[in-house]
Amino acid sequence: MSLKLDGKALSLEIEEKLKDDISLNEKIAKRSPGLAVIRIGEDPASGVYVNNKEKACARVGIKSIIYHLKDSVGQKDVEQLINKLNFDDDIDGMLLQLPIPEKFDDQKLISNINPDKDVDGLNEKNIGKLVKNEPAMRSCTPAGIINLLKSQNIAIEGKNIVVIGRSLLVGKPLSLMLLNLNATITVTHSKTINLRKICKEADILIAAAGKPNLIDSSFVKEGAVIVDVGIHRLKSSDKSKTRLCGDVLLEDVIPKVLAYTPVPGGVGPMTVTMLLVNTIFSWQKKFGLSSTLNDLLP
Ligand code: NAD
Repeated sequence: MSLKLDGKALSLEIEEKLKDDISLNEKIAKRSPGLAVIRIGEDPASGVYVNNKEKACARVGIKSIIYHLKDSVGQKDVEQLINKLNFDDDIDGMLLQLPIPEKFDDQKLISNINPDKDVDGLNEKNIGKLVKNEPAMRSCTPAGIINLLKSQNIAIEGKNIVVIGRSLLVGKPLSLMLLNLNATITVTHSKTINLRKICKEADILIAAAGKPNLIDSSFVKEGAVIVDVGIHRLKSSDKSKTRLCGDVLLEDVIPKVLAYTPVPGGVGPMTVTMLLVNTIFSWQKKFGLSSTLNDLLP
């Protein structure tokens, strides 16, 4: 029987540790960690994600402040807000909820975030440290995936790992983190020729293409581990309801694999947990507190 890599359960376990870390250090810091979340416009999925992040912060004792801006604001207004938060002593972490409306230059905004507060790990300074395999905040989804694999003692070193997708948010940083852990990485993308054949060589196959049900059992080697990053809301057959699915046709793939991540309840909750970890890490660093979180930052 294949093993379900239960991201929800692991998230709750890590949250208990985070609560302890906060209550232990709060006396020294004299305040709880603070996270600012900037949301622009009305993208409904972003609304759900921001809500989830706000609730998770409340569960562990992080003070979160949501800045929900109208999409009529300009690039300069957002830059000014980021600058203000860069100098706000009560804010340890800041993130720009993506995607934002197209008229904004999201990369320029992320570049403006103080790297020490860049809890999404997307600023070039943090990406640079990842390339050099130096400690820094790590982007949340890739770091969450690695923690999920490690939690079940799934070996990474020496394994053939195929990553589908090369985005700045997921595919690229994930490939670098896995490379730093001594895996042999193949990064594939929309122009890759013969994706199926390449995937079939993978000991661990990670799908982050953003294409519902792209991967069926014909892409998967017997006994592989499959990680599904994709998240899509599809209309069910009677059109009155919706359901969530990933990039992997799970019911077809599960009988063949050693382990798999479910959607929902796999990678998604781990992404939120890593945001909490990064915020607390930044807070501990600011107050010179010893951090117990280094193991969670691959
Ligand atoms: P993206 O659109 O920025 O990147 C997708 C990547 O997949 C690109 O590099 C593209 O070249 C590649 N790709 C597209 N079609 C392909 C195909 N047919 N074959 C091979 N490669 C293909 O998306 P992203 O931001 O990296 O996100 C990917 C998916 O992961 C989305 O469904 C997104 O919603 C989801 N996601 C989930 C979480 C989470 O916490 N669960 C976090 C981030 C993203």
